Amino acid sequence: MSDPFVVVGGDAAGLSAASKFARERPDGDVIVYEKGRWISYAHCGTPYYVKGEVEHVTDLLSLSPSEVEDRGIALRRNHEVVAVDTDDRTVTVAHDGDRSVQSYSDLLVATGARAVSDPIDGSSLDGVFTLHGIDAACAIRAVLGEPGTDPVDTSVEAVDRETVERYTAWEPPETVAVVGGGYVGIEMAEAFRAHGLETHVFQRSGHLIPPFGEAAGQRVAEHVREQGVTLHTDCAVEELAGDDRVEAVVHEDGRLAVDLVLVGIGIRPNTELLSGTPVELGESGAVTTDDHGRTTVEGVYAAGDCAETRHAVTGEPAWVPLGLTANRAGRAIGQTVAGTPSPVGDIAGTAVVKAFDMECGRVGLIDHEAAEAAGFDPVSETVTAGSRSGYYPGGDETTVTLTADRDSGRVLGGAISGRDRAAIRIDTLATAIERDTTVAQLERLDLAYAPPFSPVWDPVLVAAKVLN
Ligand code: FAD
Repeated sequence: MSDPFVVVGGDAAGLSAASKFARERPDGDVIVYEKGRWISYAHCGTPYYVKGEVEHVTDLLSLSPSEVEDRGIALRRNHEVVAVDTDDRTVTVAHDGDRSVQSYSDLLVATGARAVSDPIDGSSLDGVFTLHGIDAACAIRAVLGEPGTDPVDTSVEAVDRETVERYTAWEPPETVAVVGGGYVGIEMAEAFRAHGLETHVFQRSGHLIPPFGEAAGQRVAEHVREQGVTLHTDCAVEELAGDDRVEAVVHEDGRLAVDLVLVGIGIRPNTELLSGTPVELGESGAVTTDDHGRTTVEGVYAAGDCAETRHAVTGEPAWVPLGLTANRAGRAIGQTVAGTPSPVGDIAGTAVVKAFDMECGRVGLIDHEAAEAAGFDPVSETVTAGSRSGYYPGGDETTVTLTADRDSGRVLGGAISGRDRAAIRIDTLATAIERDTTVAQLERLDLAYAPPFSPVWDPVLVAAKVLN
């Protein structure tokens, strides 16, 4: 009997791979090791669960353990893979204080990433959270109390009851600081305001959501201020202070008394289990992969937040940890391992975020620095145009930044912000970038028009006209 396909990580990339493999090769064996209790969960929905907009923690789950098993996948929860031996083709698995060794025919490392908070002194104080995973979301929701919906349901098998009960007993907070004005920070500011908390956001640089460019960042800043959030931009947090529990944020302009802190300053790929193996990591610290998700060692693949992927604009390796990237790469690798080589696809860094009622999208390389650093001679324009025909109610100003290469005219990137379906418009630019479209070609795209949806000239077309 041949060794199984072993997958490390039971979420987006790992389960996509295992499911595709099991479908393509019903006679093959696949084992998924997941170190936690949760599987097949939506990180992306956790801010909305904390907010109370998503009522139950179980709403964030896609497949149950039994549904995974029904697909022909051997699922091992609470099993942590602690070492890989690529010569022997084995993994060492820790479970319940025991260790065992499992051979593999092919191995997929789909271990994701973890939130970073250690650069901030005091981040280990009680009452300081990061949001990465369902346990963290349950803990924060428990601290906040009930926003008019069910509190954390501790009858759910995988809920960490002890932690939830401890935080439920806390006095509900009144003032919260969010350290980091990236997309998780802004989504969480919205969640905290929904619970009526005095909410402060600290951002070291001058504008919010930096990957979305300056114009989008400015619109989001104006909007979140209108929603009652106090912004501290250009303001570095020096430390979080308190005895056992956090009491204050010490920043370069002073000190703010707080009851709760959410640190959203970034994530780091989980690649420790590959240390000591010849599997190479890229500059980002994530695993180097080729166009089929293969690492530098035969039979070992990597996908999702722990892996680099080729960037659609630069052609260089890039680490852009996002949901579709993980699902898509996992699925392709499952198919490849099953016997039909399937490319994982390039990434363009297409991302969208909702900040209260404001929506933003971004794709590719959107500002001069990024484009120049990648060796282009960029030219950019930012335009503001209506989202619907002027006479039709419900429209909003839509801000589009378009960046192109001066010589070739090739579209390199773009960002879109506004309150009326602005985010989804980014998919037009994502498609253009995937096809190496020039600004002139973009301007001639036959986009849809009817007054409730768009003006005759969609804001993306207006930006292309101005830049061309
Ligand atoms: P994960 O989903 O993190 O899964 C990795 C799994 O591996 C984990 O379950 C972990 O426990 C397990 N594991 C790790 N090490 C081991 C080990 N040694 N042994 C066994 N198991 C192990 N992306 C978007 O595109 N859009 C969004 O709106 C969006 N919102 C987000 C909001 C938040 C708050 C967060 C945290 C992320 C968000 N993302 C979003 C990112 C998206 O969720 C990730 O890109 C995606 O989940 C990555 O999937 P993955 O399978 O690579 O990693």
